[in-house]
Order: sequence, then C-alpha cells, then structure tokens
Amino acid sequence: MDLQPLKLKGVSEERPLLIAGPCSAETEEQVLESARQLAARGIKIFRAGIWKPRTKPGGFEGIGAEGLQWLKRVKAETGMYVATEVATAKHVREALANDIDILWIGARTSANPFAMQEIADALKGTDVIVLVKNPVNPDLDLWIGAIERIYNAGIRRLAAIHRGFSTFDKKIYRNLPHWHIPIELRRLLPNLPIICDPSHIGGRRELIAPICQQAMDLNFDGLIIEAHCNPDKAWSDAAQQITPEVLDYIVSTLVIRDEKQSTENLAQLRRQIDEHDEKLIETLVARMRVSEEIGTYKKEHNIPILQTGRYDEILQKYTSKAQTLGLSEDFIKTVFVAIHEESVRHQMEILTPQPPEGGLA
Ligand code: PEP
Ligand code: MN
Repeated sequence: MDLQPLKLKGVSEERPLLIAGPCSAETEEQVLESARQLAARGIKIFRAGIWKPRTKPGGFEGIGAEGLQWLKRVKAETGMYVATEVATAKHVREALANDIDILWIGARTSANPFAMQEIADALKGTDVIVLVKNPVNPDLDLWIGAIERIYNAGIRRLAAIHRGFSTFDKKIYRNLPHWHIPIELRRLLPNLPIICDPSHIGGRRELIAPICQQAMDLNFDGLIIEAHCNPDKAWSDAAQQITPEVLDYIVSTLVIRDEKQSTENLAQLRRQIDEHDEKLIETLVARMRVSEEIGTYKKEHNIPILQTGRYDEILQKYTSKAQTLGLSEDFIKTVFVAIHEESVRHQMEILTPQPPEGGLA
C-alpha cells in the first residue's frame, strides 16, 4: 500500500500518537469540559462517538448529528483535531460537512463488507484521515479487506485500530487482545500505522495502563483512550473510562523503548510464545475431554482402561515423528507419558470414583 503519513500540524511525530475523549458525546457541557481538561494536558486529538452502535436496544444510541456542533466548538475553543465514528454513508457526509478531521469505523461495521463498501464509496474524492477498527471477530482477512476498501476509495492517510476481539467468555478482558493478529497485520502491511484501543480491550480502568504499555512494547504507533470529565457518570462504557488526570499519569509513566536498541523483537517473539502456550493448554484440555468420553464409553461397555497396544502405538508414532521434526525422542516421550498418565487418572475417576480425601464419612 502506498500510504501517506498521518501528519497533523502541531501533533508530535513521536510515538505514541494520542487520541482521547469520551466514549460518547452526551451533552455540550460534558464534551467541552472533557475537551478542555484534555487540551490542558497536551492532548491534540479529541474523540467522541455521536452515533453509537449499541449491542442491545434501549441504551444510549448517541446524540446524533446535533453533537457535530459540539465537536466544532471543541475545535474552535481548544484547537484540537476531532474524531468521530461513522457507520453509514450518511454519517460520512454529515461528518465531512461539519469539518470532522478524523473518521473511525467501528468493530461492528468493519465486520460487514456491504457497510464498508458503502462508507468507502461515500469517501471517494476526499482526503480525510480514516481509522479502521478490527472487526469484532478475530479475522485478519476481514480487517485487511475493510482497510483495502477504504484504500481503494483513494484514502491515503489511513491507520488501523486494534480494539480486541469478542468472546463468549469475558474473564479478564472485555475483548481478547490476540496480539498475534495486529502483529501479523504489521508484517503484511508494514507502512500502516497501528493504534491500540486499550479501553475496549480491557473494559476496566485498571487494565488501561498495562495494555498501553504492552502496545508500546509491541511498537504500536498510537493509543486511542476513552477519557471523560466524570467517568462514573458516563452514559456508555463507564467502567473503562478514565479522567484526563489519570490519562495524563498513565501516558507520563509509559516506557517508550528506543527503536534501535530496544527489545521489541524479543517482546514480539515472547508474545507469540505466550499465544502458543495458550493454545497448548487449550488443546490439552480438549484432549482430556475426549479422553473422559472414552472413559465413559469403557465404563458402559466394560472395557479396561489400560490397553497397552494403543498406548505403545501412540508413543512409537510420535517419538519417530519427533525426530523428523527436529525434536528429541526423549522430550516427546516425556510429554506423551505425562499426557497419558493424566488421561488414565481422569478415566480412573470415571470408572472407579475415588473416595474424598480423609476417607468416607
Ligand atoms: C467506541 O470506540 O466507542 C466503540 C463503539 O468502539 P468499538 O467499535 O471498538 O466497539
Ligand atoms: Mn466505547
């Protein structure tokens, strides 16, 4: 891709490029107060959603076009650049007619090629800056496809936003980072700036700082962070918004490692190792579930747990395969013996449940 640098007059080219502001524009006072506090702390690009894609109806769906006037006031009063989310061609036209400097495309929209094409068509002939969030699902091709549609419409000041990926199970993160996906995006499109959105990845204030640091360690170009003058009272995404003061503290404590002598390659490799380890554990758990089903089958059909022939076959097969793949026979043997032992233990539990520790009451 033949991209142009984002280059915004008065905005430092040092990493990270910072964009901050509330999840949603709620009232004129909230927008202006948040903007003033952020501008006073050196933030040059203000974000606020005016059209809000909400998971369920009944929530605050954004103030709509009225909010464009508030963003204009932010520009006039603070000199900041302003950014908002667009999801339809109409949004694009209205935002451009009101001098919005940066448009971003949300995760629910970038997952939809029809919507992306409609937006791309509406952008033809303009040279506004466009940021494309990753789609909600972890599909790198879909993300790249969305970026390509915007690029093909002639937009050259383009960046990606990594905001994490939806999962059913929301344990730590609101949206799983899957760092290997933006890392692969960087490999495939090395000139495309990548901005991290720790607010939507973390979903909670406490996670913003560590995610920002991780993004910097992975050499991301920027951060888009939700900041609100009164986060607890926010009409959307209250749990993940921070005050401009906290934002300032987080940014000032970030360690930005020097490109030349930094260890970001090492950090990227370690991140890949972490992802592999996660997969290993998941595979082991899935394997154990199947083994337990086998245990149930054996119980129902009165088959003994240990069938030496089968165990021997597995060991032989993988120790010889290991050698052709450059792994030592001993190593693979140790791994498979341990897996087998654990499998037998699970099956024994099914065939002959053990009395609880301390004996039977
Ligand atoms: C947002 O930035 O407020 C937003 C709705 O984000 P996402 O599309 O990442 O969910
Ligand atoms: Mn939000």
